[in-house]
Amino acid sequence: MSKNQIALADRVTQIKPSPTLAVNAKAKALKAAGADILNFSVGEPDFDTPEHVCAAGKKAIDDGHTRYTAVPGIPELRDAVVNRFKEDHGWQYTPEQIQVSCGGKHGLYNIFQAIINPGDEVLIPAPYWVSYPPMVQLAGGTPVIVPMEEKDDFDLNPDILAKYVTGKTRAIIVNSPSNPTGSLLSGSALDAIARLAIKNNWLVITDDIYETMTYTDDALPHILDVDGRMKEQTVILNGVSKSFAMTGWRIGYSAGPDHIIKAMNKIQSQSTSNPSAPAQYAALAALTGPQDFPQTMIEAFLPRRDFFVSDLNAIDGVSCVNPNGAFYVFPNFSSYYGKSFKGNAINDSVALADYFLDEAKVASVPGIAFGADDFIRFSFATSMDVLQEGMNRIKDALAALS
Ligand SMILES: *Cc1c(COP(=O)(O)O)cnc(C)c1O
Repeated sequence: MSKNQIALADRVTQIKPSPTLAVNAKAKALKAAGADILNFSVGEPDFDTPEHVCAAGKKAIDDGHTRYTAVPGIPELRDAVVNRFKEDHGWQYTPEQIQVSCGGKHGLYNIFQAIINPGDEVLIPAPYWVSYPPMVQLAGGTPVIVPMEEKDDFDLNPDILAKYVTGKTRAIIVNSPSNPTGSLLSGSALDAIARLAIKNNWLVITDDIYETMTYTDDALPHILDVDGRMKEQTVILNGVSKSFAMTGWRIGYSAGPDHIIKAMNKIQSQSTSNPSAPAQYAALAALTGPQDFPQTMIEAFLPRRDFFVSDLNAIDGVSCVNPNGAFYVFPNFSSYYGKSFKGNAINDSVALADYFLDEAKVASVPGIAFGADDFIRFSFATSMDVLQEGMNRIKDALAALS
């Protein structure tokens, strides 16, 4: 390092770049070098954005919607979000209680920036989405990881949760259906969370980005429905990235108490100003148009999930919880840890995912990225042919370990 190299802020050295994006970059580099890589690492649907949504985005540009918008998003889109909550759930929000952000991820970032002070603890049930802990850290808070167990189908056990509560706990984040497990939180787990939240005055952040993508006919339990008082203590995070295959448009939205949304707007006004104007009009078309698109995707994903889960469970020493939502499987490969390939020991999820990539040409995400080293995440938002070929390669690669 030269004497004049500028030092970085401490907050940057605390965190690592997103590991899911890192795997994706390595897979793409190998592919560019000519390797026949099957990519199961991507966290997005393999569907295109619906045509009427794309048309609305193009029309917005032609209509001159190319300038700054209101900080929390165009009023029409906030109204549309209010209407979706009312029609889909019976929840009453005002447009002032809605913020549109540059993707769901940025909405979460705004939430943590708005409520966390140095030393505040945020409970994060694991396996968790990769970005929660660094976002809490970037806000000066302390992530407190609460394990969820495979034997409980990755539902939150209230007795385990209770062990991680301290006087510094300020908030808890829930994500159901979950990325990476696809599991849903039970009504009884949410009930326990609501009771603790009301007693201790916590904020519950509920990441509902996969709410329209479930494989059961049962209603998805929600923290707002278990206790009416929770509305004062909950911020909902949602968006169009997953449910309308719009990851590249970067539109998410949050709903919560007036003063929290107002604080988030202050932060947004001094950082991004507002999400892209044409993308907001496209999201408006998504939320006000036909609502059957997520169901179309789910119907395509269902046979893929069934194939992947049953074939994984048929492999000696592998177990895989059946996901009831989203489009990921999270199998446990820990019985293979300690085995070797050509003298190299494979002792953790990073080594196994690297082995799958190098030897089987299968890209996946090591479970450690989600706080669960016994597991590997595969996305099944890809064609059945690719899934079948990938499964053969995984089986061969595991059989080659000794
Ligand atoms: C994809 C995802 C989001 C939001 O993604 P954006 O692309 O920023 O809208 C939020 N939470 C989870 C768990 C996700 O998987």
